Amino acid sequence: MSALPSIARFAPSPTGPLHFGSLVSALASFLDARQRNGQWLVRIEDLDPPREVPGASHQILKQLESHGLRWDGTVLYQSSRLEAYAAALESLIESGLIYQCRCNRQRLQSLGGIYDGHCSQLQLPHQDCAARLRVNSAPISFNDQIVGQYSQNLQAEVGDFVVRRRDTLFSYQLAVVVDDQYQAISHIMRGADLLDSTPRQIYLQQCLNFKTPEYAHLPLALNAEGQKLSKQNLAMGLLEGQESQHLWAALHWLRQSPPEPLQRQSVAEILDWATAHWSVQTVAESLQNSPAPEGY
Ligand code: GLU
Ligand code: ZN
Repeated sequence: MSALPSIARFAPSPTGPLHFGSLVSALASFLDARQRNGQWLVRIEDLDPPREVPGASHQILKQLESHGLRWDGTVLYQSSRLEAYAAALESLIESGLIYQCRCNRQRLQSLGGIYDGHCSQLQLPHQDCAARLRVNSAPISFNDQIVGQYSQNLQAEVGDFVVRRRDTLFSYQLAVVVDDQYQAISHIMRGADLLDSTPRQIYLQQCLNFKTPEYAHLPLALNAEGQKLSKQNLAMGLLEGQESQHLWAALHWLRQSPPEPLQRQSVAEILDWATAHWSVQTVAESLQNSPAPEGY
């Protein structure tokens, strides 16, 4: 077996503090990396200034630290990477894979999410247009470490997709792929809400001659209405001073069977226990989207 260094990452968007769901993602990827003796990086995905909440990046980093989730190296901020995204877009343009699209929101909504290629032959100028990447009908398949085999036909299920928005912001899909390559990420563990983005990301990696990492998509923690906990539906931030309980609750939610007395130990002791006992197999076999514990 080759011993390439394993590098994982947690990549929050600074739209609010960590909540139970994002703690679960951070903790699981941290434990997985630690068990593999790999590195665990943190990347702040501050690509969309209008959606950013002032102070959120700082708060997230402080919360990670107080939960003992210490990252390797320095934090990468996507806002410092715009030149790299522009270079990637340029290389896609040179490959003839990009066209400009000026469809308005109303037209896009009427398509129900699958772009129909309307602007692909129009040769529109860059001004006031979104840049779309041409896809094809070859299925994109990968073996998710939790979900198993997953496959998408981008042409039928997504259509040509936006890599730079009409407001000139680069899309999440492009930025995430450029940065995962730049940081040499080998293992991506994140919430299952991003499972159906993964084929787009693999396709982008292929177009840009990048490596494809291993993927593992975690089931989602749900609120009382059965929605994913998220900043958008106002999931509670994690209360300060209860870090051990939060970690224990997240481990319990992840079906890792932490012993009851462990919740009264320090975060370092909990993380040591959790690293020694971490089983992604158990997550894969016994966890589905399920309610967050009461109080979260
Ligand atoms: N920044 C994304 C989010 O907070 C996650 C990106 C990723 O893990 O690929 O939803
Ligand atoms: Zn269009």
